[in-house]
Amino acid sequence: MVDHQSHSHDVLVIGAGGAGLRAAIAASAEGATVGVVCKSLLGKAHTVMAEGGIAAALANVDERDGWQVHFADTMRGGQYLNEWRMAELHARESPERVRELEAWGALFDRTPDGRILQRNFGGHAYPRLAHVGDRTGLEMIRTLQDHGIHRGIDFHMEVTVVTLFTADGRVAGALGYDRERGRFRLFRARAVVLATGGIGRAFRITSNSWEYTGDGHTLAYDAGAELIDMEFVQFHPTGMVWPPSVRGILVTEGVRGEGGILKNKEGRRFMFDDIPPLYRDQTADDPEEGWRYTQGDKTARRPPELLTRDHVARCIVREVREGRGSPHGGVFLDIAWIKEKRSDAEEHIKRKLPSMYHQFKELAEIDITEVPMEVGPTTHYMMGGVRVDPESQMSTVPGLFAAGEVAAGLHGANRLGGNSLSDLLVFGKRAGDFAARFARANGAPAIDPAQVEEAARLALAPFGRDSDEGAYAIQRDLQGLMQDKVGIVRTEAEMRAAIEELAALRGRAARVGVTGHREYNPGWHTALDLHNLLTVSEAIASAALERRESRGAHFREDYPAKEAGLARTRLVVKRGDDGRMELRPDTVPEIPADLAKIIKENG
Ligand SMILES: Cc1cc2nc3c(=O)[nH]c(=O)nc-3n(C[C@H](O)[C@H](O)[C@H](O)COP(=O)(O)OP(=O)(O)OC[C@H]3O[C@@H](n4cnc5c(N)ncnc54)[C@H](O)[C@@H]3O)c2cc1C
Repeated sequence: MVDHQSHSHDVLVIGAGGAGLRAAIAASAEGATVGVVCKSLLGKAHTVMAEGGIAAALANVDERDGWQVHFADTMRGGQYLNEWRMAELHARESPERVRELEAWGALFDRTPDGRILQRNFGGHAYPRLAHVGDRTGLEMIRTLQDHGIHRGIDFHMEVTVVTLFTADGRVAGALGYDRERGRFRLFRARAVVLATGGIGRAFRITSNSWEYTGDGHTLAYDAGAELIDMEFVQFHPTGMVWPPSVRGILVTEGVRGEGGILKNKEGRRFMFDDIPPLYRDQTADDPEEGWRYTQGDKTARRPPELLTRDHVARCIVREVREGRGSPHGGVFLDIAWIKEKRSDAEEHIKRKLPSMYHQFKELAEIDITEVPMEVGPTTHYMMGGVRVDPESQMSTVPGLFAAGEVAAGLHGANRLGGNSLSDLLVFGKRAGDFAARFARANGAPAIDPAQVEEAARLALAPFGRDSDEGAYAIQRDLQGLMQDKVGIVRTEAEMRAAIEELAALRGRAARVGVTGHREYNPGWHTALDLHNLLTVSEAIASAALERRESRGAHFREDYPAKEAGLARTRLVVKRGDDGRMELRPDTVPEIPADLAKIIKENG
């Protein structure tokens, strides 16, 4: 048998971001032995990059807020394609999860009377994001790690999982390799929680780090699980556009929440030009009302810069396409203008947006308290992912759970800012609880040694090939293809071409050769990532081709309107028996009357 180190856990959690850590804490609290695997060092997960805050209807800043309003906002933001039960659980449980984080030692900015401060964000009716400056993710991960580390959880750092094993129709464990030595690790587990985050690296311009290559999506798909909503990729409206080396790095929505405005090269505040009917009643009539909203005036309505991300991103693309963009292909985001309104503007910006201030100062040599930033859309978040049971987070493969960005359902066609960090806490806990219960109720499965041999053989195959085909070139070509043909604005012809080109890239990936040995070999790691990137890209392009309408984050130039017949349709992706990707429509569960009433009342 291939040389490997072996580990056994009741529950194996793949991923050490907010979802993975919260799941691990919950499973351990349920009495399970828990192992957590992550690709990088503990503390480096994507969650650490989160800036703006955690959405939870604590009603600390505006007493009109409550779980019902949060639920209605989330459903409207997701264009009602959300799994309603997940949206309900999320809205009901996130305040408790935030208070629990506080009890575990998380620091937050405070209201004058000492409660957790909440800020405005796009699509949220009231100030709802619990935050600490613009470094909320760091505080969240620090707290979860501190708490988790004392529970006796085993951490396997710098280990990448490449295969999930199944036995008797349920999950049985996983095979990974340690990135430093290149040796295999076999994990035996009664239940597995996927918490691997997103897919941003399938695109050229992204706010995501090198780790987000769609591994969890592909591991689940290969194990036979269903994926849903893969056409819904969130392009955040404001990423850096200049200099080229930092293109895509996120500029938090918190800038707009604090009063930042978007302008084109003519100085026009173009967001007032196009307000979707669904949001007309909730949007300010003029800049003065918008400003008052950002300063906490409860009689004012939100400025159009705080409309949902899909809409703001498309407005920016329109300005650039029609020749009104900034010099480097974006638009201007101005927070410096608040000097006209506040005598303490400079100090206020530095206090509320310290990371943004330093990011622009150090990377672009721009002082955001003095001049506008140049920004443009960047691939940010994946709404699509593993289909899960709303209560337990179990996928369609028994014993395989998913939580956080890799799971789907909560956000529907578009995620509201801040709803990811709360998603991680609410559904991370649920996934951990239910995975532990599954492990307790089911015996230890046996992994077939032949499956392990085959997985190891496939992982080592690139070493045996004498080939000119390099992993980095294929990765670059794939990212360019997805950016240009399956990006913010989509057409049938481009997506058909993309699907054909993806098939060609898969052919090239099968010929990739790797030189050197297994220790510290990033070329080999990149070669292994290609299968994941190609699988999620094919799923995105196929679902995007199939959805012949524009809804939420998915915009078709050839079908620019919503299609009433698709209002309750979600697309399911699954691996067919012949190994080919299959796509089928499914109906989103009907919203019960009491919740439909809540949506209506909070419209
Ligand atoms: C710059 C930025 C700012 C953001 N700001 C906010 C915000 O203010 N509010 C908000 O709600 N959301 C925000 N988001 C989104 C949010 O941060 C993410 O959606 C969320 O952190 C994802 O958490 P997660 O636990 O699902 O996964 P991640 O935190 O992405 O962690 C994934 C983990 O899985 C591991 N992993 C992946 N593949 C493998 C594999 N094959 N084998 C082993 N381990 C693997 C990784 O190593 C990592 O440990 C922001 C995102 C970015 C990029």
